[in-house]
Amino acid sequence: MWTPAEEPIRQRRGSSSGVSLVSVALSIGGRLKSSNRAMGMLRQPSSRISGDDVPNVRLTEEIEIVRKVSCLVASLLLVCGLGAQDLDYSKVEIHVSKVAGTVYMLQGTGGNIAASVGDDGIVLIDDESAPLADKIQAALRGITDKPVRFVINTHYHGDHIGGNAYFQKQATLIAHDNVRKRMESGGATGNGGSIHFEAKPQPKDALPVITYDRALTLYLNGEDIRVLHFPAGHTDGDSIIFFPKSNVVHMGDEFATHFPFVDVEAGGSLNGMIDAVESVIAQVPADVKVIPGHGQVSTLDDLRAYLTMLKATRGAVAHARLKMAKRWIR
Ligand SMILES: [Zn+2]
Repeated sequence: MWTPAEEPIRQRRGSSSGVSLVSVALSIGGRLKSSNRAMGMLRQPSSRISGDDVPNVRLTEEIEIVRKVSCLVASLLLVCGLGAQDLDYSKVEIHVSKVAGTVYMLQGTGGNIAASVGDDGIVLIDDESAPLADKIQAALRGITDKPVRFVINTHYHGDHIGGNAYFQKQATLIAHDNVRKRMESGGATGNGGSIHFEAKPQPKDALPVITYDRALTLYLNGEDIRVLHFPAGHTDGDSIIFFPKSNVVHMGDEFATHFPFVDVEAGGSLNGMIDAVESVIAQVPADVKVIPGHGQVSTLDDLRAYLTMLKATRGAVAHARLKMAKRWIR
């Protein structure tokens, strides 16, 4: 059994920490279209794309990368449940799969749920969208008759905390300090450009009742369930949850098999997301099972490919902006 770090590696505060790659992409890329080829960037990094921070591609190639990035933005609206108001939840089914050890994954339409199931009961990581709470409960009863004892929210987005008000009747809600603050007050959600929403304040019974700053451990189901805060990544309140005995990690929305959304209006940053992913890669074994915030269970190689794509995109965007700035100065 491996041991995750006592607390996450504290990330650097680089000059581009507030870069919204999606808003930059939009400003260059223009109209939004879905693109299966661009989605392939995650699993099949192009040989043209360098994994280094120093870009080594030409401006035209950089703009092409950014154009592909922009093609993915439409999918982001669903990645974080931001376009979920049109969904017919009555038709949604909850799919349950065993990941490893005590850990199961439940999937509906929003964020992936992890469930640690054992003699001590159920620990849920995230609880999807509110209209699906009954279906999630029914799916859990198909695994065990034990109660849900704890729910840990990976961040404050509605498709990860929607079942809180339902599950708080049987379980204790836990999240990072900033998650409770944002749920309590509501506020801006977006990429600092084309995507912007005002999150409504959540009712009192949906709020986490235990919050933490840097790290937290739950000793349940024979597992030391380790919860670490990674600042300024997808949001400013992200938790990544490690199940060392089961050899599983739940990444929250720091990792999605769709192109990621960086919520810069809620304190997120691309640099923070890169730091979080690097930190996880450095401390998990090669055969770890990785639950993304959205998408299918992945491998460490998938996570490495994702990191390569994030760095290449950061480098390409930064280089393109620099070259454009130089042209305007002339
Ligand atoms: Zn999210």
